[in-house]
Amino acid sequence: MKVSVVKEAAPGERRVALVPEAVGKLRAAGLDVLVESGAGDGAWLTDDSYAEAGASVVSRGEALAGDVVLMVGKPDEAAIGAMHPGQAVIGLLGPLTDPELMARLAAAGVTAISLDMIPRTLPRAQPMDALSSQANIAGYKAAVIAAGAFGRFFPLLITAAGTARPARVLVLGTGVAGLQAIGTARRLGAVVSAYDVRPETKTEAESVGATFIELTSVGPAGGEGGYARALTDEERAAQQDELAAHIARHDVVITTAQVPGRRPPLLVTDDAIKAMAAGSVIVDMGASTLGGNAAGSVPGETVVSENGVTIIGAGALPSTMPAAASAMYARNVSALLLHLVKDGQLMLDTEDELQAGVIVTRDGAVVHRALAPPAPEEPAPEEPAPEEPEPEPEAGTTVEPGEPAASAEGNLQ
Ligand code: NAD
Repeated sequence: MKVSVVKEAAPGERRVALVPEAVGKLRAAGLDVLVESGAGDGAWLTDDSYAEAGASVVSRGEALAGDVVLMVGKPDEAAIGAMHPGQAVIGLLGPLTDPELMARLAAAGVTAISLDMIPRTLPRAQPMDALSSQANIAGYKAAVIAAGAFGRFFPLLITAAGTARPARVLVLGTGVAGLQAIGTARRLGAVVSAYDVRPETKTEAESVGATFIELTSVGPAGGEGGYARALTDEERAAQQDELAAHIARHDVVITTAQVPGRRPPLLVTDDAIKAMAAGSVIVDMGASTLGGNAAGSVPGETVVSENGVTIIGAGALPSTMPAAASAMYARNVSALLLHLVKDGQLMLDTEDELQAGVIVTRDGAVVHRALAPPAPEEPAPEEPAPEEPEPEPEAGTTVEPGEPAASAEGNLQ
């Protein structure tokens, strides 16, 4: 079976799905590895390094014709057009936010396997958890970017020219990225506070060195699968108001809050920004075209508010560390691929909880339970009616001749 790696098509994407180090493991499992020429350029991985590891360096057309195509992001229209029925594509396909892409892949007869749908709480899925590996990178880089943009020191410094007090950093959202941002800001010497709407994250935040802020106006908001649920309008307004006072006391705010499949919640309002001191920095990891965690953030851009607060829209941080991000992603995608391969062939089994989690399209249809239209109800098998006396109609009801009476299980249709 041919497993191929294509050069990522998204503008600015520098990661690659497989690094040379991962090629040997796939070959040992009986797989042929094809790599599009130049696929590793953005991560400083040369064609020669892939060839030395045992991969064949091929054209884009040949790579797109592989039995299993590995990517980091999503295939673009041209890539889908070049694919044929029976192929599989594995990547961070974002099916919940892009159901149209899934319909398109299903129509093309391509099996879509999405790493971002891994059931993350399954212990055996840990090595495949690309959301966590990439969030770790993003959290680290967010803290480094914040330190770079801040016009003062992060650590306490005592010098002959004076003493610098440590920066006060607030991390909003303490999932995987938030915890890494806390740890990194701490290692740089900042004094770090943190908040999350899931109070169970308090001990985790404290274990990496933050003081956890507990809001009195919003209760716990844990949702399914260890994620947060979306807040109601009233909860959101109360949270924003109470957070504003905390935000004003900090020099740097790093926001990482996400709710799966929804636009990121707004945590830092215009009023909160106005109350921050000039020279403060916000790094918004939730920045998106629909809006981010901080008012006025623009993905990929830095804006400065009228009162001198630098707001960095940091949407795609893993791609800014392409070597580390690709190496970690390659381990995740290889672990998943090897889980799906038996005797050198892809053997899919949706009875397996892990596989049912990641397989989104198959045999020309969208099959994932989070996206597939509900299956039509099976018509009841025609069986002879049991020889039971018909129940007496209840007082006050009448049963017309030929009309079935209600059964204990519901109406017989
Ligand atoms: P995420 O990227 O979906 O969200 C980041 C954080 O934002 C979350 O902690 C969330 O609670 C928080 N958030 C959402 N709305 C908020 C709001 N209005 N205000 C404040 N905070 C808000 O989360 P993630 O990093 O992908 O991780 C989600 C959870 O899954 C975490 O508990 C993580 O530890 C867990 N997880 C578990 C495993 C495992 O069991 N092996 C693996 C990976 C992740």
